[in-house]
Amino acid sequence: MAEKRDYYEILGVSRDASIDEIKKAYRELALKYHPDRNPGNKEAEEKFKEITEAYEVLSDPEKRKIYDTYGHAGFGPGGYDWTQDFSRVRMDFSDIFGDLFSDFFSDIFGSDFSTRATTRKRKIRGSDLEYRIHITLREAATGTEKYVNISRYDKCNVCNGTGSKSKRGKTTCPTCHGTGQVVQQRGFFTIAQTCPKCRGEGEVIADPCTNCRGTGRVRNMHKILVKIPPGIESGTSLRLKGEGDIGPYGGERGDLYITVFIEKDEIFERRNSDIICEVPITITEAILGGEIEVPTLTGKVKMRIPPGTQNGTLFRLKNLGLPKMNGYGKGDQIVKVKVIMPKKLSRQEKVLYQQLKETEKLENYPEVKNFREKYL
Ligand SMILES: [Zn+2]
Ligand SMILES: [Zn+2]
Repeated sequence: MAEKRDYYEILGVSRDASIDEIKKAYRELALKYHPDRNPGNKEAEEKFKEITEAYEVLSDPEKRKIYDTYGHAGFGPGGYDWTQDFSRVRMDFSDIFGDLFSDFFSDIFGSDFSTRATTRKRKIRGSDLEYRIHITLREAATGTEKYVNISRYDKCNVCNGTGSKSKRGKTTCPTCHGTGQVVQQRGFFTIAQTCPKCRGEGEVIADPCTNCRGTGRVRNMHKILVKIPPGIESGTSLRLKGEGDIGPYGGERGDLYITVFIEKDEIFERRNSDIICEVPITITEAILGGEIEVPTLTGKVKMRIPPGTQNGTLFRLKNLGLPKMNGYGKGDQIVKVKVIMPKKLSRQEKVLYQQLKETEKLENYPEVKNFREKYL
């Protein structure tokens, strides 16, 4: 861990600064580095945490005294763990900024802190859910609709989401007497922790609903229709807004993410928006050319091949691939011809091939001719 900087230096105040000067310095810096004003800026976020920590210590006369006397070491190894004592800085924060940054805690400290810090004001959003579905390549080509069975939290109908059996509703938490914190004395420190009984809310449900055990929500199975757009890539997540878990006590719903996987096809191989398919043909079809039938993602089509088509020749069928993801046009189907020799011959075929062999000219097989002349 990097050495901690001096708290006075961080806030840019002198060692004898008054509490108002400290507050003023913090307000200015916090407004400058607040994550809402610096979206995606990790450095600003770290800076913001640093100034908040410094403020947390210097704005508290007792902690400031410890810091002035012992420095960071006064708070034990690793310095001051301000996350343990959150409520006071939280209160000061709303005091300083009002509702300017109401999402402040959840934004920078994650949902764990948001539940402790903002439950009184704000309802907790439900969780996002993720499910996976598998579709065929043909379904990916045309787009499709699928039902997924999901298990998610819904509002408890018995208590209408309140979590209360009776009209008594919430009552002051008996453990923390409504403060949301339990305070412990450790040596000459006072350590405040979130109350485990009410999880910092300061209130508990007097008469919990038996159907949902006081949580205001219950798990149900749902069949949800998912529309899959044509041309989707394997591994893509589709977001169904507001189809996730409902939050406790009537909080907003999370989202549902459906990750779509495309199964391997027996004959078609995908390359971006193109489709590659190997098509076996007979030796006479290859020799004489003509029309052959080729499978595509949307049914069979006829394709002409020229006389003398060689094994492995590629043919391109325009616009028979998958829709392009940018929304414009389609890819192609590439047909790779595989010339197959007969495994056995009828008596008549044998006679004809024998005659063919006797009449055929080596000039018509330039590759064979060149090889024999050069190497044999
Ligand atoms: Zn209930
Ligand atoms: Zn409590």
